[in-house]
Amino acid sequence: MNVIDLRSDTVTQPTAAMRAVMLEAPVGDDVYGEDPTVNALQQRLADELGFDAGLFVPTGTQSNLLALLAHCERGDEYLVGMDAHTYKFEGGGAAVLGSIQPQPIVQADDGSLPLESIASAIKPDDPHFARTRLLALENTWHGRTLPLDYLRSAHDLARSHGLGMHLDGARLFNAAVACKVTAREITRHFDTVSICLSKGLGAPVGSVLLGSHALIDKARRWRKVCGGGWRQAGILAAAGLHALDHHVARLAQDHDRAATLAGSLRGIAGIDLLGQHTNMVFINVPADRLRALDAHLGEAGIRISIGYLPTLRLVTHLDVDDDGIERTAAAFAGFFDNK
Ligand SMILES: *Cc1c(COP(=O)(O)O)cnc(C)c1O
Repeated sequence: MNVIDLRSDTVTQPTAAMRAVMLEAPVGDDVYGEDPTVNALQQRLADELGFDAGLFVPTGTQSNLLALLAHCERGDEYLVGMDAHTYKFEGGGAAVLGSIQPQPIVQADDGSLPLESIASAIKPDDPHFARTRLLALENTWHGRTLPLDYLRSAHDLARSHGLGMHLDGARLFNAAVACKVTAREITRHFDTVSICLSKGLGAPVGSVLLGSHALIDKARRWRKVCGGGWRQAGILAAAGLHALDHHVARLAQDHDRAATLAGSLRGIAGIDLLGQHTNMVFINVPADRLRALDAHLGEAGIRISIGYLPTLRLVTHLDVDDDGIERTAAAFAGFFDNK
């Protein structure tokens, strides 16, 4: 019985075809800028998304951190969503390593930072205040896509105050596929964009930060400082290139399967369907039955994460097929019918 792992889209296994290109990838020393596969990956994404340059790094956390360090100096601040990954789930890295102060802003239900809140959080030029330098957005956020007209307005507002714009686009391609636009339609509003290759795109490791030559040069310096200057990383970059060729359009299937799963769960008494956004389904179940549910699903070969109670997040990805969705729906139905 194959396991259906719905904890996250980070759990995907590299496909046989991906492993084959990794094996054959030409490589060199990336600290010297000599890895042809790393260079190809960086340039490909930069060209596709309208930036000068890219920087291949091990994780999305490091990519976001390098962006903040490139945009901001000690004593600067960045505006960020109160529930944004960059603020909440990255160990406070920009404050720890860059003396950069976050100014968190309460998000609307769709993940956007209300324009009025942004405007009122921007500090005047006065020695009492940190210097407001940057607006950081996230798309998708908890699977939700930010509307394109919101991105334009946020960009215009930020620019009118001289702020830079950073996008945590860990799942940028999920957003583009769901909104039926090119990724560039989204990224054109930003100075830097961070993209994860190791989520729904299915590569084993890696993120790419995109920006101007000046910002990427700064980020490369900080990458070295953080110990992230790597060598024959082309083996990993090859997986990223393969993912961009073969795993972008198919994200629509993950979204469809999440919608199918949500449709099945909606009808089950005991489950409160909160919503489905791109490749994520959110449900509440009675807290006192959670452990039993987890055990029941485990016996059926289904893994869920019960970390953020009482809401469960079920994530579809490359390794969850139609049969997996059916088995999951059946296992939930079985549990709640037979208490
Ligand atoms: C996963 C994720 C990151 C960080 O990626 P890691 O590779 O796990 O460090 C950043 N932002 C968002 C929105 C993510 O989902």
